Parts: sequence; C-alpha cells; structure tokens
Amino acid sequence: MKQEPSLAEPVVAQVLPWQQATIEQLLRLKQKQQLPHAILIELKTRVDSRSFGWQLVSALLCQNIQADMSPCGKCQHCELMRANNYPDFTFTTLVENERTHKLNKDIKIEQIRHLIHQLSLTPNLTGGKIALIYPAEKMNKSSANSLLKTLEEPADNATLILLTHNAGRLPITIRSRCQVRTVNHPKAEVAKNWLQTKGLEAEAIEQYQEVAHADAQLALQLYEQDFFQYLQAFRDLLKQYLNNRIDVVAVFNSIKERDEEVLRLMIRNTLLSFIYHQLETPLQVSEKNKLLDLINLINHSNFMLQIEENNLNLQLQFEDVLISLKQILNRGKNHGRTQSGDSVAQHKG
Ligand SMILES: [Zn+2]
Repeated sequence: MKQEPSLAEPVVAQVLPWQQATIEQLLRLKQKQQLPHAILIELKTRVDSRSFGWQLVSALLCQNIQADMSPCGKCQHCELMRANNYPDFTFTTLVENERTHKLNKDIKIEQIRHLIHQLSLTPNLTGGKIALIYPAEKMNKSSANSLLKTLEEPADNATLILLTHNAGRLPITIRSRCQVRTVNHPKAEVAKNWLQTKGLEAEAIEQYQEVAHADAQLALQLYEQDFFQYLQAFRDLLKQYLNNRIDVVAVFNSIKERDEEVLRLMIRNTLLSFIYHQLETPLQVSEKNKLLDLINLINHSNFMLQIEENNLNLQLQFEDVLISLKQILNRGKNHGRTQSGDSVAQHKG
C-alpha cells in the first residue's frame, strides 16, 4: 500500500454523549492492562463513523484523557495522531481504485496483509501497536480469512479494533474471537438535548428523528441537508413521471447526487405515503390488491436499494422501483377499466 488512508480528517472535537461509555469501558480495561487483543464495535448509526474511530484510538493512546473521554489534543501521542503520523497505528478502510478512481466496494486482502505486517512490528512508542478496520463489514471473504489467522495468534502488545455498522455481516469465526461492544442510538431525551444544541427546534427534532428511525446522527445529517425540501422536489418529479410527462431516467438524474442513504429514505418515505393515501381512500376489491402490491414493493425496494450489499447498480434498482410503482398504480386504473369493459362485453353477450 503506497498511501495510508487518513483518519485524521473528519475530526470533531467532542465525543458524542452516547459514545462515551464505550470509550470509557475500554480505557478502564486498558488501565488494568486487560484490553483485549481484538475488539469489535458495532455502531447502530448509519452515518460515517470515522470520527468515532479516531476519537477511540486517540483516547486509547492519549496520555491525558479528558473527563468527557475526549483526547487532550496536546500530548505527544495526540499530536502524532492529529498529524496522521502515529508510527504504531494502522488504519484500514475502503480505498480508491487506482484505475477507476472510484471507491472500492470491499476491503482487499492486500490491505489486510499490510495491516497484519504492521501489527507484527516492534512498537516505536509506549502505546503498543494498534490497528483499526472500518467499515469492517466491507472485508471480502479472503480478507476476512486472512485476518482470522491474526486473531487466532495475536501479536503481543497489539490491539485490533473492528468498527462496523453491521456485525451480522462479519463471519461468526471473526466475531467469536473478538470482544464485542455495541454503540446504540441515544435515548430519546439524550438525542433531543443533543439535537437542540445543534439548533433544531422541538418540532424539527420530532420530524427528523422519526424519518431517521431514532438515529440522531442521521437526523442531524438529514436536517443539514434539508431532507424534506428535497423530498418535496422528488415527489413533484415523481408526479410528473407518473403522469407520463418525464421519463424515469430524468427522475434519477435529478437526485443522483444525493447520498445513497438519503435516497433510500426518500423512496421509502414516498412509498409509505402512497400506502397511507391508499388506506385513507375507501377500499374496493382492486384497491386492496394495490395496497398489498405497494407493501410488497416497499419490502422489495428495502432489499434492492441496499446497493452496497447486493452490488447491483443503484440507478437500475432505483428505476426498477419507480417503474414497478407506476405499474401498480396504473394496474388499479386498468383493472377498473377492464372490469367495466368486461361487464359491458358480458351484457352484450
Ligand atoms: Zn493527549
């Protein structure tokens, strides 16, 4: 690996209140010299968590940890971490493909081999060797297998931290060799207080927390991106598409710059509103099918739009969902027409 990916970029000064306990527990173990060789931390948030990784590693290395579990930022170890120049720390993440300049979809075996080699070296400083893999669920099969050997025979004075948004996607053989921790979403009250400090009013907090499924970090991200305004713009376009005024590619092009997570939420939210609308209208037989079809489409799209997990092309998946939606909505209309048409034909017959 020529270039070490940087973990120092996304630093936020403070550890989030609901992440403190995890850091605290690990620090306590470290002080007792009982820090496990391999730690797996599952983060329930969907938001990029490199800054948490940085905070955690810095806290484990810092010589003068603060009361809120933030690293002091001033000691030698903190300074080296900040400069992305800590000699005993290795960060492994998704890197850019040299040919396509796009982010790889998985963590490659060469990266893991590099990490294993780094962990086997003698530490330069007193903190011991430390390595972080994030997002660990992106290791491919051979990467995970390669890592397994290290987990079975860990080097002395080496700590390996796996940070993941989805521990279930890691092989059980890896999970069982790590000490596992979970950072859950904050409790409603904690989330509310935190979002308030970020400038959200009570009503906005409720709205965004709901759409983010209590993931407060995601709620903030959506708020900062003005999610509901984009949602409205998307729905206006969708209406035009359903009325045959623009094609599905035009809808996608208008929103393709959005974050994938936001895109998924927009689709989900919109499909749900069609269902609510359907529930409010008096049900006829053909409408019942429509409702079921819409519910099926939500389930289907939840699966299809997990793009990074099924490796399919997001645009095609997205278009597929919209085309299906149109078919379902039109099928209802056509059913009505066909049935009345049939009945006219029967009367004639
Ligand atoms: Zn420090």
